[in-house]
Amino acid sequence: MVSKSSSNPLEKLGLHSSLDCALHLPIRYEDETKLSTIASVINSFGGASAQVQGTVIRQEVMYRPRRQLLIVIRDEEGDELFLRWLNFYPSQQKQMAVGQHLRVRGDVRDGYYGPEMVHPAVRAVSPDASLPNNLTPVYSTTAGVSQLSIRKAIDKAFKDADLESLFSEIFPKDILKNCFPGLNLPSLWEAIHTLHHPSRHDDMESIQNRTHPAWRRIQIEELLAQQISLQQARAKRLSRRSVQMNLKPKKDGILEKFLLQLPFQLTGSQQRVWQDLISDLAQPYPMNRLLQGDVGSGKTIVAALAAMHCLDHGYQAAIMAPTEILAEQHYRKLSIWLQPMGIEIVWLTGSLKAKDKKAAQASIASGEGRLVIGTHALIQDSVEFARLGLAVIDEQHRFGVKQRLQLQQKIDDVEIDCHQLMMSATPIPRTLAMTFYADLEVSVIDELPPGRTPVVTKLIKSDRRDEVVAGLSEQLKLGRQIYWVCPLIEESEVLQLQTAVDTYESLQLALPNVKVGLIHGRLKADEKNAVMQAFVLGEIQILVATTVIEVGVDVPNASLMVIEHAERFGYSQLHQLRGRVGRGSAQSICILLYSSQLSMAAKERLQTLRETQDGFIIAEKDLALRGPGELLGSRQSGDGMLRFVDLQNEHDLIEKTKELSVQLLNQYPEISQKHLERWLGHRADFLKA
Ligand code: ADP
Ligand code: MG
Repeated sequence: MVSKSSSNPLEKLGLHSSLDCALHLPIRYEDETKLSTIASVINSFGGASAQVQGTVIRQEVMYRPRRQLLIVIRDEEGDELFLRWLNFYPSQQKQMAVGQHLRVRGDVRDGYYGPEMVHPAVRAVSPDASLPNNLTPVYSTTAGVSQLSIRKAIDKAFKDADLESLFSEIFPKDILKNCFPGLNLPSLWEAIHTLHHPSRHDDMESIQNRTHPAWRRIQIEELLAQQISLQQARAKRLSRRSVQMNLKPKKDGILEKFLLQLPFQLTGSQQRVWQDLISDLAQPYPMNRLLQGDVGSGKTIVAALAAMHCLDHGYQAAIMAPTEILAEQHYRKLSIWLQPMGIEIVWLTGSLKAKDKKAAQASIASGEGRLVIGTHALIQDSVEFARLGLAVIDEQHRFGVKQRLQLQQKIDDVEIDCHQLMMSATPIPRTLAMTFYADLEVSVIDELPPGRTPVVTKLIKSDRRDEVVAGLSEQLKLGRQIYWVCPLIEESEVLQLQTAVDTYESLQLALPNVKVGLIHGRLKADEKNAVMQAFVLGEIQILVATTVIEVGVDVPNASLMVIEHAERFGYSQLHQLRGRVGRGSAQSICILLYSSQLSMAAKERLQTLRETQDGFIIAEKDLALRGPGELLGSRQSGDGMLRFVDLQNEHDLIEKTKELSVQLLNQYPEISQKHLERWLGHRADFLKA
């Protein structure tokens, strides 16, 4: 057993026992089994990693422009390769002195002097040193823990005679084989052993790309654990009690009155989703539904209907939004709809004065405040609902895990569970919906309200910014309004603010007869709201903004958006931003200004955005790029439960494990439980968020 002392750096990695070590599977492998000639890697480079060896013939520290170390090696055939380091230690210079023979491994790319490796892995070896037979595993690690020490700990764990028994088969015989006939799955113990110690008899490619039967076995284990726990969560939810509402609007109730004077006709999609909601609310157990709909598809009204239905049954409803601006907008819109019927809305955000906050909290606690709108101030400890029947969480993916858990806590605290409706404009790709969100019913609004015209997206180089500014007058003459979004400057909020102020001033100068407004994160909430309100009313024609306008803001008359340094934004940010225009019937335009030095990834991103407005395609691209961790909110990849499953490419595996998990839970509940404990242990909490 690895010692339990906390001074052990392995503890930092959560490797407390032999079991933990064995389950700490390699994140990748290095192939040191092959040696290439320098000539062959020079001729066929292109990102691929290669291993070559040769003698150092030159070493130089250069300053162009940064201090760097340049090494040239020459192999037996006389071909030369540049190696470059931007950070280096004197010890490295010594190790790579002229005359030394080195084996180096890295990606070959086209450099300043020709083909080169930047920061390759280096080993001093004699020219005839043998090559290893097997792939070298690489483990995820943390500061202060070397690969070597992890490998040692794992080797030691495998010497533990009891280790194998910890991985005994617990599934009924042949159940996996029957479910996954073609996969030729090894036993769990064999799989673990193989992945730590791949031998030359194993297919290296499938070990590396995680399609080897040993990986399949692990992926199935992980997916099963996740599916089982999600289904347990579901069963638990169905056994809870919540307010059971009628299938029909209450006679003469708020909802019925409102439906009679609906400001517009619901789209077919909205009607369908409303049917989903009203039948969920008629169940004795709490609803857990995600309403997905692209930006501008009209989610708010559907949520408002559900809230009214809830009020009609004598319960409170709450709508929570991730930003104050968005909450304010819901507040305003719902006030217009509800005030004529004498319904007062309670407003609660962090920026309220203490006295007003107290009053709001008191009204919520007494039950007098029936409809509550606000930010995450709603789920703070000091807030106690008298009879909360429905919680609507807008743009739910914007809330972090902590806030989601807090909300859950709030809901768990009361005797009667409240129904939950989450809304999101970021579509969840199918594989994610099936895994991380399996205890979530999903409704989709897949059409936009009538009369919208798609937004035309243009990519324009930023050196043509003046032309763009001059062109604004065209739109303004037509009576339209404009958003001008300032670049995201992640390193410095001060700098970001400065750019916004500069842009605001320069636009004022360039367009003296136009009313320009400025909104950014440093404004106080009421200042922000005042600016926003002026824009809504058309008193401001051009709104210069930082990303505070990203979510949910709705001004149909705004039909042009300019985004500066669009290359600095991610897929979903750009999609959300662009969704602010194209909300009225006028042709809308989104101009993405980009700087001339675009990375490949940025280029692809901007092109995708020009070509499609389909949030689903954009979300899939985003998932491929960033992985599920970020799409899920702040759930860190290390905490995620699917460490070895590639959600992009494993639809089949996911589908089948889902079926199998149902079978296991029904027929073998104890085995399911045992499996869960083996794989999830302390991480189970994350499922609830
Ligand atoms: P999102 O789904 O992005 O939250 P909103 O709920 O803010 O979208 O709706 C966008 C705009 O469309 C709002 O101005 C809303 O009043 C309007 N809207 C919603 N549904 C319809 C409809 N069926 N017909 C016409 N306009 C609608
Ligand atoms: Mg919205």
